Amino acid sequence: QKVASDPNPSFYRMVEYFYHNAVRVCEASLLEYLQKHTHLSDKKRRQRVTGILKVMGSCNSSLQFEFPLQRKNGDYEIVQGYRSQHSVHRLPCKGGIRFSDEVNMEEVKALAALMTYKCACSSIPFGGSKGGVAINPKKYTIAELQRITRRYTLELAKKNYIGAGIDVPAPDMNTSGREMSWIVDTYIKTLGYHDINAAACVTGKPINGGGIHGRVEATGRGVFMTISTFMHDEYWMKEIGIEPGFKNKTAIIQGYGNVGSYAAVYLQQHGVKVIGVQEVDCNLHNPEGINTTELQQYKAKNKGSVKGFSGAKEMGPELLFEKCDILVVAAMEKTVNTEVASKLNCKVIGEGANGPTTPAADAILRDKKILVLPDLLANAGGVTVSYFEYLKNINHVSFGKLSIKFWRDSNTALLDSVEQSLKAAKVDAKIEPSPVFQTMMSGASEIHIVNSGLEYSMANACQNVMRSAKMHNLGLDLRTAAYITAIEKIFVTYDEMGLAL
Ligand code: GLU
Repeated sequence: QKVASDPNPSFYRMVEYFYHNAVRVCEASLLEYLQKHTHLSDKKRRQRVTGILKVMGSCNSSLQFEFPLQRKNGDYEIVQGYRSQHSVHRLPCKGGIRFSDEVNMEEVKALAALMTYKCACSSIPFGGSKGGVAINPKKYTIAELQRITRRYTLELAKKNYIGAGIDVPAPDMNTSGREMSWIVDTYIKTLGYHDINAAACVTGKPINGGGIHGRVEATGRGVFMTISTFMHDEYWMKEIGIEPGFKNKTAIIQGYGNVGSYAAVYLQQHGVKVIGVQEVDCNLHNPEGINTTELQQYKAKNKGSVKGFSGAKEMGPELLFEKCDILVVAAMEKTVNTEVASKLNCKVIGEGANGPTTPAADAILRDKKILVLPDLLANAGGVTVSYFEYLKNINHVSFGKLSIKFWRDSNTALLDSVEQSLKAAKVDAKIEPSPVFQTMMSGASEIHIVNSGLEYSMANACQNVMRSAKMHNLGLDLRTAAYITAIEKIFVTYDEMGLAL
């Protein structure tokens, strides 16, 4: 209960709080599930539910290590590395690696737990993990960063914390395709030398190194898709009292990194006016709308800073409290605390970051009738496309070239035969191929397949969360609904596989 009112709770406690909150709501339906599917006595059923929930809420294993680095000037330094595997109910575990001063064991564990629930909520068949190195990458040369990344990978490999079937990292805060390339190269030349699936030991790789088109944009795109799905839904817009759709809508973006900037670009492409951007070193405001693509290009050329951009005026941090319809929070955890929440003047929040809202702030936002699209739903686009990259790697195919003709030929025949059998059985039904399948049939390139698959997956996850919110009478509390969606899926997996070895 302390977490519920704490203005600055620990990140791990926050995730635990949200989890237990959801457990309280869905425990009865889990018992019901067991009643339908087993012959256990009341007592045994309760024991099994409690047991599985205990396992699900705990962090499976964590690794913490230190290694030396000789700096360019000859000085020595000790670097701290972490990796946490929260859930191994499905393997491999999946989750990014971040480079940041603020990385610590507790943060990494919280982020790993969020990955477990995120993957389950979106039906991505991975366990959850996360890793990090406690450095400010801006203070290191590229050569130093490469040595850090390679040594970090070796430490993971030594301890069995990386591999296509074990644990698969990806980019996160301050890491990108460049670091993923170093990771896969280190792994392939050491522990993964005899592993035919070694390239699948990490996702978010550059295209040339086995990456997939659309991965870089995927998280921002997923955030946009989630916002779009809810904002075009009459029921939810009625709940918060605004007109459905993007017409005349405005947005403010907190954090203009990979996630925030692409979310902004897609929102703008669909008619939303982006009136503000908040970054660590500067706040940009333009009530007429900021050109989001130009700002992306400007930031890339301007050493990663948006400061000095001519298409907007600088203002103070109160930018965040300007009136707008959509707020995308894509900076880092705990940026929306009670103080911020009470001053916000938006209608919908899309959580691009992991854990941006504290439990106490979450309650304030609900009271203010602000619809929060929670992290584990809204930012699942990244890991979803990571899954496509993983599939591409372990299948040793290129979606864009090799597979299209094969798919079209083999599946058309399959569809024909299913339809013929239905006709013969006098069943009046039509087989509708999924959008992903339809795209494949049309002979599209990899990016089309990826985006159509992402759209299909995000839409499904949104529908599941909406359904869960309505079924459990949760009002605007989509976070609890998303956790419940995840918990119910993981529960079935644990129940089917049994807990003891
Ligand atoms: N770091 C991203 C996240 O927090 C992506 C993880 C992945 O692709 O494995 O969801």
